[in-house]
Amino acid sequence: MHSLKLNEEACTRCRKCVDTCFVNALKWDTSIPKGAPVLAYPADCQICCYCEKLCPTQALEIIPDWASKYIPRTLSNAKGW
Ligand code: SF4
Ligand code: SF4
Repeated sequence: MHSLKLNEEACTRCRKCVDTCFVNALKWDTSIPKGAPVLAYPADCQICCYCEKLCPTQALEIIPDWASKYIPRTLSNAKGW
């Protein structure tokens, strides 16, 4: 499954990442004092990386799990995946 890596120091808690995710894969975790974005629905994540791009402080990184995505065999063979 895809995952989210957050730089806690860099995150300003602006929530732009959560607001921008068009499949609502990101949610705001209120269980920690300042809150934080979490990849609540990793199977829905399209690895578009809009959330990364729109983060004003580059605090967010989406770590793709390529094995969980459908990739045509011709492409995977060509790439050596
Ligand atoms: S857009 Fe970046 S700074 Fe804003 S809440 Fe998300 S990770 Fe934190
Ligand atoms: S990579 Fe795209 S689909 Fe995945 S959480 Fe970010 S904005 Fe949403």
